[in-house]
Amino acid sequence: MFNIKGKVVVITGASSGIGEAAARLLAQQGAHVVIGARRVERLQALASSIRSEGGSVEFQALDVTRLEEMQSIMDLALTRFGRLDVVINNAGVMPLSPLEALKVDEWNRMIDVNVRGVLHGIAAGLPVMRKQSSGQFINLASIGAYTVSPTASVYCATKYAVRAITEGLRQEVGGDIRVTLISPGVTESELAETISDTEARELMKDYRRVSIPASAIAHSILYAISQPAEVDVNEIVVRPTASL
Ligand code: NDP
Repeated sequence: MFNIKGKVVVITGASSGIGEAAARLLAQQGAHVVIGARRVERLQALASSIRSEGGSVEFQALDVTRLEEMQSIMDLALTRFGRLDVVINNAGVMPLSPLEALKVDEWNRMIDVNVRGVLHGIAAGLPVMRKQSSGQFINLASIGAYTVSPTASVYCATKYAVRAITEGLRQEVGGDIRVTLISPGVTESELAETISDTEARELMKDYRRVSIPASAIAHSILYAISQPAEVDVNEIVVRPTASL
């Protein structure tokens, strides 16, 4: 594994779960992390904790559904650290429900955050990376990007989309820019807390009984970033050992 010291890494959705674990781990490894999410008080606490361990971090309120906020956090990285090495498009929501429940607002929210949010990260980061002739996108999909299950059609559709966008991006910009898709299985986080549908909540309780810590996914992110520049880790799937 190569050194990631001094790399400038923007992480979306860093106020909990995988984003938070990645921010801690990458900062411990010497990266400058620039973290965004909507819950600024969480970011502030995380930044204090990272700084108390000697890490380098900046934070800013970020709603990934707003392109101008995504551009603004890239600007923060550039102003503060002078370059942009990695964008981790991690922010996501998962309010599962059967299609027949017609929770159209929740479908739209998943499309806005999980798909538009990733596209906004690309739109804001790609011109900077093109100018530098280097950079890396790490997009968080899911094992739901490979199979569909009841109550998860729309969530899975958004993650299939992330997988398609990531592969398309790799084909178009590979050469200068590295592109990595990370697909976690069940991971400890706050992700299931947004489920408002009773049936989906019950199904999830059972499904989430076996899980891995968010730090496991952070380590796969570190693995992808820490490869030498000519090595592009395209896809990583990480599941709990006990899952089918
Ligand atoms: P969490 O719910 O713990 O974290 C999700 C993060 O996304 C939070 O920091 C939240 O912050 C942020 N977020 C939500 N909406 C927005 C928004 N509009 N703008 C900016 N940030 C937003 O879940 P995970 O850590 O598990 O999720 C991280 C990623 O991993 C997601 O893409 C998820 O789909 C994926 N994943 C997770 C799995 C798991 O089992 N945990 C399995 C497969 C994939 P805030 O509310 O403060 O904005």
